[in-house]
Amino acid sequence: QTFLDRIQQYNPSINAYIALDEAKTLAQAKAADARIADGNVAPLTGIPIAQKDIFCAKGWQTTCGSKMLANFIAPYDAHIITQFDAAGAVNLGKTNMDEFAMGSSNETSYFGGVKNPWSFDRVPGGSSGGSAAAVAARLCAAATGTDTGGSIRQPASLCGFTGLKPTYGAVSRYGMIAFASSLDQAGPMAKSAEDCALMMNVMAGFDERDSTSLNREKEDYTRALYNSNPTKPLQGLKVGLPKEYFSEGLDASVGKVIEAAIAEYKKLGAEIVDISLPNTGLSIPVYYVLAPAEASSNLSRYDGVRYGHRAAEYTDLMDMYNKSRAEGFGAEVKRRILIGTYVLSAGYYDAYYLKAQQIRRLIAQDFVEAFKKCDVIMGPAAPSTAFKAGEKVDDPVAMYLQDIYTISTNLAGLPGMSIPAGFAQSDDGVSLPVGLQIIGNYFDEARMLNVAHQYQ
Ligand code: GLN
Repeated sequence: QTFLDRIQQYNPSINAYIALDEAKTLAQAKAADARIADGNVAPLTGIPIAQKDIFCAKGWQTTCGSKMLANFIAPYDAHIITQFDAAGAVNLGKTNMDEFAMGSSNETSYFGGVKNPWSFDRVPGGSSGGSAAAVAARLCAAATGTDTGGSIRQPASLCGFTGLKPTYGAVSRYGMIAFASSLDQAGPMAKSAEDCALMMNVMAGFDERDSTSLNREKEDYTRALYNSNPTKPLQGLKVGLPKEYFSEGLDASVGKVIEAAIAEYKKLGAEIVDISLPNTGLSIPVYYVLAPAEASSNLSRYDGVRYGHRAAEYTDLMDMYNKSRAEGFGAEVKRRILIGTYVLSAGYYDAYYLKAQQIRRLIAQDFVEAFKKCDVIMGPAAPSTAFKAGEKVDDPVAMYLQDIYTISTNLAGLPGMSIPAGFAQSDDGVSLPVGLQIIGNYFDEARMLNVAHQYQ
């Protein structure tokens, strides 16, 4: 009830939630109370969670931020929703997002932009902008997000909290609306690494309904958090700093905060090693071939026939497809479908799609080499602090560059997180959060969470 009251008070100005159902939420809260009275308590029992509107939740509006699905009520639960329900967590509502998770500012949402709680004229980042603002404004205890190229970590950086993109395949994509299936991964967005670990214990695990779900033993993500050496808890940890993450393109004010955070890590016992990820500069071009290619295929299902928006008037079947898609999708989604269809067409496939897949492998190989020299990699999560709403809407390339430090981990399938590192002053004198990124090797989330926890 406390969170619902806060949502009533602040959501009209922030626009973090796009679907609320007080009766459903309170019924789940009562069930959690009863469970607690019975002594049947799990770590998230009664904890109010915000769900990104990309996850199907039975009986809930599930729009993916699009007019195409504005009237869609999900008939089934995503895997992670089932997991949260089983743990006794309470669903507070569905959060705003860029349309089909395409964006870095939440400005492509059909339901309007989201305000950054630290500075209302700035964006919260995207695509998980609603979840980000909800966590930052304390309109939930924690939230879920998805990260295809940076959509958990970049908003975590711009809104000042902890967000984790797990290893590809750690969290089931069943019931999570597809953008680019080989890159999409769900993860927690919360106040601290400890909260993210508790969320991961619920979200991660094998699910046979997702063919890319990894069949591994269930793990306890909190297991590394409580270290016994209080003065040098990270003694022996090797932290790699990729030189490509500290070059032009990084705002000087952000760079300073990151350097100060690295100095703190030295005090905690970490050893710093210089590394190189030479293909970093190719990650954005490669992503903007592969992600649109996959999206153009995934989004072909929205044809106005079985579900989603259907044009009111049309002459024949082809006209119905054309009008429904023209009306239902926004400009950024159309741009991606056009690019994706182009790079997959006969005659261009080898020149673009195949080449991009080959470079994707080289990018992954960069990390294999890097992890021979270090245990985790650190750097900025985003090149700047939160920017003003409207500032980049007419310049897609400037918008795409927001993910310069996050996209390669998606291409490699590696886990990455952003944690609050400190604050930087904007040109107009506003103090804004800066995120430190921690990238780990495959399945090394428990160690990364501890590395984050020791700083917090
Ligand atoms: N900003 C990137 C894009 O627009 C990444 C989005 C995401 O991670 N979902 O595609």
